[in-house]
Amino acid sequence: MHVQALVRKVMSKSQVRCSLGSSKDNHSRSGLDDAKGFVTPPSYGTFVIVQISPDAKLHDDLRSVLGDRVRDGDFELGLYGKDGSVLQGQPSLVCLPVDTNEVRQIVEICRQHDRPFLARGSGTGLAGGAVPVGDPVIIATAKMNQIIEVDLENRIAWVEPGVLNLDLTKELTPLGFHFAPDPSSQQVCSIGGNVANNSGGPHCLAYGVTSAHVAAIEVVLPDGSVTVLGDLSPEPSGYDLRGLFVGSEGTMGVATKVAVRLTPNPPAIRTLLLDFPDVRDGAATVSAIIAAGLIPAALEMMDKRAIEIVEAFVNAGYPTEADAVLLVELDGLPGGVEHGVEVVRSVAERHQVGNIRVAADNEERELLWKGRKNAFGAVARIKPDYYLHDTVVPRGKLVEVLEKVYKIADAYDLIAVNVFHAGDGNLHPILAYDSDEAGVLERVHAAGRAIVTASIEAGGVLSGEHGIGLEKRDYMGMLFSTHDMATQDMVREVFDPQGFANPLKVLPSGSRCSDSFGQHVPDGAWV
Ligand SMILES: Cc1cc2nc3c(=O)[nH]c(=O)nc-3n(C[C@H](O)[C@H](O)[C@H](O)COP(=O)(O)OP(=O)(O)OC[C@H]3O[C@@H](n4cnc5c(N)ncnc54)[C@H](O)[C@@H]3O)c2cc1C
Repeated sequence: MHVQALVRKVMSKSQVRCSLGSSKDNHSRSGLDDAKGFVTPPSYGTFVIVQISPDAKLHDDLRSVLGDRVRDGDFELGLYGKDGSVLQGQPSLVCLPVDTNEVRQIVEICRQHDRPFLARGSGTGLAGGAVPVGDPVIIATAKMNQIIEVDLENRIAWVEPGVLNLDLTKELTPLGFHFAPDPSSQQVCSIGGNVANNSGGPHCLAYGVTSAHVAAIEVVLPDGSVTVLGDLSPEPSGYDLRGLFVGSEGTMGVATKVAVRLTPNPPAIRTLLLDFPDVRDGAATVSAIIAAGLIPAALEMMDKRAIEIVEAFVNAGYPTEADAVLLVELDGLPGGVEHGVEVVRSVAERHQVGNIRVAADNEERELLWKGRKNAFGAVARIKPDYYLHDTVVPRGKLVEVLEKVYKIADAYDLIAVNVFHAGDGNLHPILAYDSDEAGVLERVHAAGRAIVTASIEAGGVLSGEHGIGLEKRDYMGMLFSTHDMATQDMVREVFDPQGFANPLKVLPSGSRCSDSFGQHVPDGAWV
């Protein structure tokens, strides 16, 4: 009730906030370039930030609660300065709480010291969401990793945020259930990170992304209070604050317990690998399968270069002569699944499919998935580094944007590899490079910006699943008007009026009418 009342109070107050000054004036400082409200993303690495030095009293206060679970050694600070993205920050203190009460006390101490905080799961995020900027105290949830309760009757499990995605599914599988969102990083990413990023995965095409699988969340709010957003009833009353928190990337507090929905394991599964001599036919097949009224559990696509590196890496029998492959999985009752296989077969045959391989058993199915799930790592066969992008385009524009991606990569003398959730139109162009090459990072970032622009121009959006974080926050103006962003910021401010929770993420500086414009993506954050 506390948060619901706060929302009403601040939303009504916010009507006058923007009259404090012309928001257009404010936003022009972050690159507003025309009357349509579009913002040109500034180039990276040109901003400065004032870092606050570690505070001995803060350290002592945290130690009085956590003992040696407050860390400031070089090794740990080095680890917690990065996530899975190409961004880097500089933490000064890392806290490893074991329960909600400790998280609450950390947040309270941070408030007393006027110090921001940053919730962190496993650090696999790809948009820099867990990269510390603005000198936050890191609240790492790795030790909050208990599955608290499994309620099969109501198909709910309460878990701590540090539980790893795949560990939860492994625990549930013998009981006949699983946690449906399955990011490719599921062996290591945490449920808290999944919630904060509203993560997706290959099987989210049919089952929906994380938001559809979270019933309630216990949260330590930035004011240090503890509340539960959402509830377990089928039709919760009031504002959907649970839905607001999911995908908020740590900017609205720290999730300390999550009630996840359990999905029954399907009685039958069929996995098919379809190869195409032309990537255009593969993409057309994706749209045609959906148009035929079938929503496969998963519908993934890989281009020629991806096929080659994956096959060399896992030897799964991927056809290296093909221009593209589709990995299609159907699940459900046996009769429906067999019908689905026939629909896929006949649609693909109308689109010049080469071979259709249907996995004969679970072993073969796992081998085919091993190829898809290891595709990012396999990039190391061609270059030591990669920058993985995440945009969404309308399914019908997949080929058009893919062709632009190849042209952009050529123009910047880079190698593009494409492995993606085609059914959702979720593109994942991987730009492979060698960071030892002089000037390569500038080309990688310029190419990335061009890919984001091409996706938006095709009617797409900035991110399908990795979030905005630090990586794309200065691109928000490509998609949202200043008014849209100010509205989003009003909501954020309801939860966090002082900007304590994961500062400098998601919304570009200038979204707040009162923004001082003193803080931007810090110099040297891009690596
Ligand atoms: C190889 C690879 C493959 C990937 N594949 C996918 C994929 O298929 N689909 C997909 O969606 N993503 C994918 N990702 C991205 C990433 O794994 C997901 O975004 C994941 O959900 C992040 O979880 P994490 O525990 O690592 O979170 P972190 O990286 O630690 O944090 C991510 C964000 O969540 C916030 N956060 C973390 N815990 C909490 C909490 N308890 N309360 C509040 N905020 C919190 C952080 O502040 C940060 O903003 C992939 C990453 C890699 C490296």
